[in-house]
Amino acid sequence: MTISGTTQLLGVIGDPVRYSLSPVMHNAALAELGADYVYVALPVASSELAIALAGLAAIGLQGFNVTIPHKQRIIPLLADLSADAQAIGAVNTVWPTARGWVGTNTDIIGFTVPLQLIRDWSGSTALILGHGGAARAAVAGCVQLGLTTIAIAGRNPEKLQAFSSSWALFPRPPALTLYSWSDLMDILPGVDLIVNTTPLGMADSSDQSPLTPSALDRVRSHALIYDLIYTPRPTRLLSLAAERQLATLDGLEMLVQQGAAALKIWLQRPVPVATMRQALLKQLAEH
Ligand code: NAP
Repeated sequence: MTISGTTQLLGVIGDPVRYSLSPVMHNAALAELGADYVYVALPVASSELAIALAGLAAIGLQGFNVTIPHKQRIIPLLADLSADAQAIGAVNTVWPTARGWVGTNTDIIGFTVPLQLIRDWSGSTALILGHGGAARAAVAGCVQLGLTTIAIAGRNPEKLQAFSSSWALFPRPPALTLYSWSDLMDILPGVDLIVNTTPLGMADSSDQSPLTPSALDRVRSHALIYDLIYTPRPTRLLSLAAERQLATLDGLEMLVQQGAAALKIWLQRPVPVATMRQALLKQLAEH
């Protein structure tokens, strides 16, 4: 890739942003396409968010991703918000328009694309473990895929109730059933899809699983266990599930597909998803 006087800029804003996997993934795709763009990590402190957005508009940035801690705080600074961003209550992808910056959230697409390739989910039952940001993408994604029963499990009853209530104002509010962690055993035999949206199983807790072996023994054989964690691969949850011959899916493809969806928005053309996946796998293997 040659950076010249005509090269256009894309990027990711966050604080910290140095560990972001997005530059590797997007620059690999841009190189493959021969697109005259470069994607860079841009550290922006919370106190500087408004001024940074004005500056990025002034220098003609062609679009950017948003990561922690700006995903919610950026919303009042945008000219418009997609329905997906409203459903999640957070923005991860922004592009310039004549009216100002417009934001969406590609995590719903990232979540649903790998599921769509596996089977038709209409009428199925999902159990979502956790009720944070990724759980919002999972709920919205399940609704889009036509799953009719969505159970949410959490360890904090107040937060669980608040999560459920937060969907009430949406045009098609999902019917959520709420479960405490200790009540899960009873519903496990009835679910078709289990999604882990908690960080249990990530690098600092890689020996842990949100579901015990005996809980997984209750899951019916055709169910899919979807862990949104993308490192380590596999997580303890997915190892336990595979030992029981259950189908598994990790979070890598969601990461790839949310990135591909963002790049498609910025470039307005098809993007090389396989190249993005390869670049991510290489980066994860090296760290
Ligand atoms: P978050 O907003 O902090 O939500 C985490 C959820 O997990 C909360 O409901 C939290 O409950 C629950 N939780 C945390 N520790 C727990 C524990 N020990 N036991 C039970 N519940 C626990 O985080 P997030 O942004 O949703 O991200 C969650 C995970 O999804 C991370 O592993 C992240 O890497 C992954 N993710 C993957 C992708 C992808 O592209 N593959 C995208 C987004 C997120 P409390 O409120 O009670 O703490």
